[in-house]
Amino acid sequence: MTNYEAECRRMVDEQIVGRGVRDERVLAAMRKVPRHEFLPEAIRGIAYADNALPIGEGQTMSQPYMVALMTELLGLTGAERVLEIGTGSGYQAAVLAELCSKVYTVERIKTIAEKARSTLDRLGYRNVAIKVYDGTYGWKEMAPFDAVMVTAGAPEIPAPLVEQLKDGGRMVIPVGERFGQSLLKVIKTAEGTVTQRSIPCVFVPLIGNHGWKE
Ligand code: SAH
Repeated sequence: MTNYEAECRRMVDEQIVGRGVRDERVLAAMRKVPRHEFLPEAIRGIAYADNALPIGEGQTMSQPYMVALMTELLGLTGAERVLEIGTGSGYQAAVLAELCSKVYTVERIKTIAEKARSTLDRLGYRNVAIKVYDGTYGWKEMAPFDAVMVTAGAPEIPAPLVEQLKDGGRMVIPVGERFGQSLLKVIKTAEGTVTQRSIPCVFVPLIGNHGWKE
Protein backbone atom coordinates (compact mmCIF):
# COMPACT_ATOMS: atom_id res chain seq x y z
CA MET A 1 0.00 0.00 0.00
CA THR A 2 1.34 3.39 -0.96
CA ASN A 3 1.11 5.99 1.79
CA TYR A 4 -0.02 8.84 -0.44
CA GLU A 5 -0.40 11.32 2.42
CA ALA A 6 3.17 10.86 3.58
CA GLU A 7 4.44 11.09 0.00
CA CYS A 8 2.46 14.26 -0.55
CA ARG A 9 3.90 15.89 2.58
CA ARG A 10 7.39 14.93 1.50
CA MET A 11 6.74 16.29 -2.01
CA VAL A 12 5.79 19.68 -0.54
CA ASP A 13 8.74 19.84 1.87
CA GLU A 14 11.44 18.69 -0.54
CA GLN A 15 10.32 19.86 -3.97
CA ILE A 16 8.30 22.96 -3.18
CA VAL A 17 9.39 24.50 0.14
CA GLY A 18 12.91 23.30 -0.68
CA ARG A 19 12.91 25.38 -3.88
CA GLY A 20 11.62 28.55 -2.28
CA VAL A 21 7.81 28.61 -2.51
CA ARG A 22 6.72 30.42 0.68
CA ASP A 23 2.99 31.29 0.32
CA GLU A 24 1.43 29.31 3.18
CA ARG A 25 -1.95 29.09 1.50
CA VAL A 26 -0.35 27.58 -1.61
CA LEU A 27 1.60 25.08 0.51
CA ALA A 28 -1.58 24.08 2.35
CA ALA A 29 -3.41 23.53 -0.94
CA MET A 30 -0.54 21.44 -2.30
CA ARG A 31 -0.67 19.31 0.87
CA LYS A 32 -4.45 18.91 0.62
CA VAL A 33 -5.18 18.09 -3.05
CA PRO A 34 -4.68 14.34 -3.69
CA ARG A 35 -2.51 14.45 -6.84
CA HIS A 36 -2.73 10.67 -7.35
CA GLU A 37 -6.51 10.85 -7.81
CA PHE A 38 -6.00 12.83 -11.04
CA LEU A 39 -3.82 10.18 -12.69
CA PRO A 40 -4.51 6.95 -14.59
CA GLU A 41 -4.44 4.10 -12.04
CA ALA A 42 -1.34 2.47 -13.54
CA ILE A 43 0.89 5.43 -12.60
CA ARG A 44 -0.64 6.54 -9.30
CA GLY A 45 2.34 5.05 -7.48
CA ILE A 46 4.61 7.77 -8.91
CA ALA A 47 2.12 10.61 -8.45
CA TYR A 48 4.36 12.52 -6.02
CA ALA A 49 7.58 12.21 -8.05
CA ASP A 50 9.50 15.35 -9.02
CA ASN A 51 8.34 15.50 -12.63
CA ALA A 52 5.48 15.96 -15.09
CA LEU A 53 3.35 12.84 -15.71
CA PRO A 54 1.37 11.55 -18.71
CA ILE A 55 -2.44 11.82 -18.56
CA GLY A 56 -3.32 10.43 -22.02
CA GLU A 57 -3.77 11.96 -25.50
CA GLY A 58 -0.07 12.96 -25.40
CA GLN A 59 -0.78 15.50 -22.65
CA THR A 60 0.87 15.89 -19.25
CA MET A 61 0.16 17.00 -15.71
CA SER A 62 2.80 19.56 -14.71
CA GLN A 63 5.59 18.92 -12.20
CA PRO A 64 4.43 19.67 -8.61
CA TYR A 65 6.93 22.52 -8.21
CA MET A 66 5.67 24.15 -11.41
CA VAL A 67 2.06 23.92 -10.20
CA ALA A 68 3.02 25.52 -6.87
CA LEU A 69 5.22 28.25 -8.40
CA MET A 70 2.63 29.27 -11.01
CA THR A 71 -0.07 29.34 -8.33
CA GLU A 72 2.09 31.44 -6.00
CA LEU A 73 2.80 33.92 -8.80
CA LEU A 74 -0.95 34.64 -9.11
CA GLY A 75 -1.01 35.96 -5.50
CA LEU A 76 -4.50 34.66 -4.72
CA THR A 77 -6.18 35.70 -1.46
CA GLY A 78 -9.51 33.85 -1.68
CA ALA A 79 -12.11 36.02 -3.40
CA GLU A 80 -10.79 35.83 -6.97
CA ARG A 81 -12.37 34.46 -10.12
CA VAL A 82 -9.64 32.66 -12.02
CA LEU A 83 -9.42 31.52 -15.65
CA GLU A 84 -7.24 28.50 -16.44
CA ILE A 85 -6.41 27.48 -20.01
CA GLY A 86 -5.54 23.76 -20.39
CA THR A 87 -7.63 21.79 -17.89
CA GLY A 88 -5.75 18.53 -18.49
CA SER A 89 -6.22 16.23 -15.50
CA GLY A 90 -7.95 18.94 -13.44
CA TYR A 91 -5.21 18.87 -10.79
CA GLN A 92 -4.11 22.48 -11.22
CA ALA A 93 -7.77 23.54 -11.30
CA ALA A 94 -8.31 21.79 -7.94
CA VAL A 95 -5.29 23.58 -6.42
CA LEU A 96 -6.68 26.91 -7.68
CA ALA A 97 -10.16 25.99 -6.41
CA GLU A 98 -8.73 25.70 -2.88
CA LEU A 99 -7.41 29.26 -3.10
CA CYS A 100 -10.03 31.38 -4.88
CA SER A 101 -13.80 31.61 -5.14
CA LYS A 102 -14.33 30.20 -8.64
CA VAL A 103 -12.23 28.57 -11.34
CA TYR A 104 -13.20 28.70 -15.02
CA THR A 105 -11.09 26.25 -17.00
CA VAL A 106 -10.99 25.61 -20.76
CA GLU A 107 -9.75 22.41 -22.45
CA ARG A 108 -9.66 21.75 -26.19
CA ILE A 109 -9.80 17.91 -26.02
CA LYS A 110 -13.26 16.67 -25.05
CA THR A 111 -12.28 13.29 -23.58
CA ILE A 112 -9.69 14.96 -21.34
CA ALA A 113 -12.23 17.52 -20.13
CA GLU A 114 -14.75 14.78 -19.36
CA LYS A 115 -12.25 12.85 -17.27
CA ALA A 116 -11.29 16.00 -15.35
CA ARG A 117 -14.96 16.75 -14.74
CA SER A 118 -15.59 13.32 -13.24
CA THR A 119 -12.46 13.49 -11.05
CA LEU A 120 -13.36 16.95 -9.74
CA ASP A 121 -16.96 15.82 -9.07
CA ARG A 122 -15.77 12.70 -7.26
CA LEU A 123 -13.53 14.82 -5.01
CA GLY A 124 -16.29 17.35 -4.33
CA TYR A 125 -14.93 20.42 -6.15
CA ARG A 126 -18.07 22.45 -6.85
CA ASN A 127 -16.41 25.77 -7.73
CA VAL A 128 -14.83 24.65 -11.01
CA ALA A 129 -16.56 25.22 -14.36
CA ILE A 130 -15.13 23.47 -17.43
CA LYS A 131 -15.66 24.38 -21.07
CA VAL A 132 -14.49 22.46 -24.13
CA TYR A 133 -13.18 25.05 -26.58
CA ASP A 134 -10.08 26.74 -27.96
CA GLY A 135 -8.89 28.47 -24.80
CA THR A 136 -6.74 30.97 -26.70
CA TYR A 137 -10.03 32.88 -27.01
CA GLY A 138 -10.43 32.84 -23.22
CA TRP A 139 -13.97 32.57 -21.83
CA LYS A 140 -15.58 35.82 -22.88
CA GLU A 141 -18.99 35.31 -21.27
CA MET A 142 -17.39 34.95 -17.82
CA ALA A 143 -14.80 37.77 -18.14
CA PRO A 144 -13.26 39.80 -16.61
CA PHE A 145 -11.00 37.66 -14.41
CA ASP A 146 -8.77 38.58 -11.47
CA ALA A 147 -6.16 36.07 -12.61
CA VAL A 148 -5.38 33.90 -15.62
CA MET A 149 -3.17 30.81 -15.71
CA VAL A 150 -2.14 29.16 -18.98
CA THR A 151 -0.79 25.62 -18.56
CA ALA A 152 0.37 25.03 -22.16
CA GLY A 153 3.28 26.71 -23.97
CA ALA A 154 2.35 29.65 -26.20
CA PRO A 155 4.27 31.30 -29.09
CA GLU A 156 3.11 34.67 -27.74
CA ILE A 157 0.66 36.07 -25.20
CA PRO A 158 -2.86 35.57 -26.66
CA ALA A 159 -4.49 39.02 -26.89
CA PRO A 160 -7.98 37.86 -25.77
CA LEU A 161 -6.52 36.66 -22.45
CA VAL A 162 -5.09 40.10 -21.71
CA GLU A 163 -8.39 41.70 -22.68
CA GLN A 164 -10.29 39.43 -20.30
CA LEU A 165 -8.06 40.34 -17.34
CA LYS A 166 -9.18 43.06 -14.89
CA ASP A 167 -6.96 46.10 -14.28
CA GLY A 168 -4.59 44.96 -11.56
CA GLY A 169 -5.07 41.36 -12.68
CA ARG A 170 -2.23 38.86 -13.10
CA MET A 171 -1.56 36.24 -15.76
CA VAL A 172 1.02 33.44 -15.62
CA ILE A 173 1.92 31.88 -18.97
CA PRO A 174 4.81 29.92 -20.53
CA VAL A 175 5.88 31.72 -23.72
CA GLY A 176 8.60 30.83 -26.20
CA GLU A 177 9.51 28.05 -28.61
CA ARG A 178 7.54 24.88 -29.19
CA PHE A 179 9.87 22.76 -27.02
CA GLY A 180 11.02 25.27 -24.43
CA GLN A 181 9.57 28.42 -22.92
CA SER A 182 10.04 31.08 -20.24
CA LEU A 183 7.44 31.38 -17.52
CA LEU A 184 6.08 34.92 -17.67
CA LYS A 185 4.02 36.88 -15.16
CA VAL A 186 1.99 39.60 -16.85
CA ILE A 187 0.40 42.34 -14.73
CA LYS A 188 -2.35 44.40 -16.34
CA THR A 189 -2.64 48.06 -15.35
CA ALA A 190 -4.72 50.94 -16.69
CA GLU A 191 -1.62 52.08 -18.61
CA GLY A 192 -0.83 48.71 -20.18
CA THR A 193 0.93 45.51 -19.18
CA VAL A 194 4.13 44.86 -17.22
CA THR A 195 5.88 41.54 -17.87
CA GLN A 196 8.23 39.78 -15.44
CA ARG A 197 10.26 36.75 -16.48
CA SER A 198 10.40 33.80 -14.08
CA ILE A 199 12.11 30.45 -14.80
CA PRO A 200 12.69 28.40 -18.00
CA CYS A 201 10.13 25.62 -18.49
CA VAL A 202 8.82 23.02 -20.96
CA PHE A 203 5.07 22.68 -21.54
CA VAL A 204 3.03 20.86 -24.18
CA PRO A 205 1.95 23.29 -26.93
CA LEU A 206 -1.00 25.64 -26.65
CA ILE A 207 -2.79 24.80 -29.90
CA GLY A 208 -5.34 27.21 -31.26
CA ASN A 209 -6.14 30.37 -33.13
CA HIS A 210 -3.94 32.57 -30.89
CA GLY A 211 -1.49 29.73 -30.24
CA TRP A 212 0.43 27.15 -32.28
CA LYS A 213 -1.16 25.76 -35.41
CA GLU A 214 -1.83 22.01 -35.09
N1 SAH B 1 -3.28 22.00 -15.98
C1 SAH B 1 -3.20 20.61 -16.38
C2 SAH B 1 -2.02 20.32 -17.28
C3 SAH B 1 -2.39 20.61 -18.65
S1 SAH B 1 -1.41 20.00 -19.97
C4 SAH B 1 -3.16 19.67 -15.19
O1 SAH B 1 -3.15 20.15 -14.05
O2 SAH B 1 -3.20 18.46 -15.39
C5 SAH B 1 -1.98 21.16 -21.16
C6 SAH B 1 -3.41 20.98 -21.60
O3 SAH B 1 -3.72 22.08 -22.43
C7 SAH B 1 -3.68 19.73 -22.41
O4 SAH B 1 -4.71 18.98 -21.83
C8 SAH B 1 -4.07 20.27 -23.79
O5 SAH B 1 -5.05 19.50 -24.45
C9 SAH B 1 -4.61 21.64 -23.43
N2 SAH B 1 -4.62 22.64 -24.49
C10 SAH B 1 -3.71 22.85 -25.48
N3 SAH B 1 -4.11 23.89 -26.25
C11 SAH B 1 -5.29 24.33 -25.74
C12 SAH B 1 -6.21 25.39 -26.10
N4 SAH B 1 -6.01 26.20 -27.13
N5 SAH B 1 -7.32 25.53 -25.34
C13 SAH B 1 -7.57 24.73 -24.29
N6 SAH B 1 -6.75 23.72 -23.91
C14 SAH B 1 -5.63 23.54 -24.62
